[in-house]
Amino acid sequence: MNERDSEIIEQLLVPSGFIPVSDMDAADLIILNTCSIRAKAEQKVYSLLGQLRRQKSRNPNLLIGVTGCVAQQEGNRIQRKMPHVDLVVGTQQIYRIPDLIENLTAQSGNLAAEITLSPAFAIPPFHNLLYTNTAALGPGASPAPLDFKKFVTIMQGCNNYCSYCVVPFTRGREISRPVADILEEVALLVSQGVKEITLLGQNVNSYGQTNAVADSSVDFSDLLHRVAEIKGVRRLRFTTSNPKDLSDELMRCFAEIDTLCPQFHLPVQSGSDAVLKAMNRKYTISTYLQQVESLLRYQPNLALSTDIIVGFPGETEDDFAGTMELLEKVRFHSSFSFKYSDRPGTRSADFADKVAEETKSERLQRFQERQDQISLERNREYLGRTMDVIIEGTGKNDLLHGRTTTNHIVHFPTEPGTRLDRGDEIKVTINQAGQHSLAGNVIAKEDDHD
Ligand code: SAH
Ligand code: SF4
Repeated sequence: MNERDSEIIEQLLVPSGFIPVSDMDAADLIILNTCSIRAKAEQKVYSLLGQLRRQKSRNPNLLIGVTGCVAQQEGNRIQRKMPHVDLVVGTQQIYRIPDLIENLTAQSGNLAAEITLSPAFAIPPFHNLLYTNTAALGPGASPAPLDFKKFVTIMQGCNNYCSYCVVPFTRGREISRPVADILEEVALLVSQGVKEITLLGQNVNSYGQTNAVADSSVDFSDLLHRVAEIKGVRRLRFTTSNPKDLSDELMRCFAEIDTLCPQFHLPVQSGSDAVLKAMNRKYTISTYLQQVESLLRYQPNLALSTDIIVGFPGETEDDFAGTMELLEKVRFHSSFSFKYSDRPGTRSADFADKVAEETKSERLQRFQERQDQISLERNREYLGRTMDVIIEGTGKNDLLHGRTTTNHIVHFPTEPGTRLDRGDEIKVTINQAGQHSLAGNVIAKEDDHD
């Protein structure tokens, strides 16, 4: 979500004459696009803002902006406490950034702030058309190379109120984007050479269900079919899914849609029903396991990943044993695991029975060690198999790397005399498996599929 927002901000700023630079000293404008999902992410923002104060004393013309979830939740405080910050923009107002910067420069120095959460969908329908404007850039600027994979936002906000989660407060109510806008954006991206589309939302499974904007007769599985019909979409992915809204129709898409990648991120959070209840997740471990079984029936090659929170308030050693047991049962290909942290405004911040920091660290370590072993065992299952790979870039020592449909990173050597580029589709036979990536040899470059 934040990554997509950063792209949008860049797209918005380029036509206003800004060019991305990699060196902070060369910057006239620095925007921190922030995340507040866990306490650690938020602490990083404050420490970076501290460093930027020094940067601004070296370069007084520097403009500093804060966007994203920390700006949304802490905007007023940042305005009060950090006078070196010029711009504070909430999650739904990023489209106003060019205007706000213009006002700021005109008023020389007054802080610009826009952090209202609106009940309407805040994404203008054709924001990707900005790509086509790059020809109008000033002298010396060259259009950024287009990537072959892109995120497309299909909904914003979230209504689920998982008891630990700040998203409903920072991103507002759940609103789905109109089908026609989504299809138009995908078609536009594909016409610009994009091959891989990831549909993005906090809980894509409830697309079309809770809003006035979208056509409620189109649910997420229908949307997937409609997007897949657009010629040129070579790979389709989506994220994220709450298991509570995972329908059989959606699971069946993995059998029905050729271009839907056999990869599914299905965050479970905990292996204990008592903890899931306290988290307000509205599913049980037994329903989750049934879903995993159905998914594998529809798509036996599916690579499953998940999110886990350890040390939720009240989590006992037995509850945590449930999480370890679930890991053994599902054998996730990979997972993101976090220590629970209190977030402002959430219900669980007020729960009693907080788990001690060292217990959380110890549980996290136990979980991650076992997950690493399982990831390695899972990756070894690919040895000897030939996998479809799209090239993403170059690595060390003439190694290229790309991604499989299962979203594994694969490294492979360049063959003398073969010209391979980013976005090329190739086949790689896997001969090495590590914990976090695979390696192999290219056996064929596929023809173009226009
Ligand atoms: N919408 C997605 C999750 C988005 S947040 C979903 O429902 O699955 C990404 C992950 O951050 C969550 O899945 C959760 O594992 C983690 N997370 C969210 N709030 C947290 C908190 N307060 N403490 C620790 N981890 C948290
Ligand atoms: Fe947060 Fe739950 Fe919404 Fe995911 S579904 S964004 S975890 S409230």
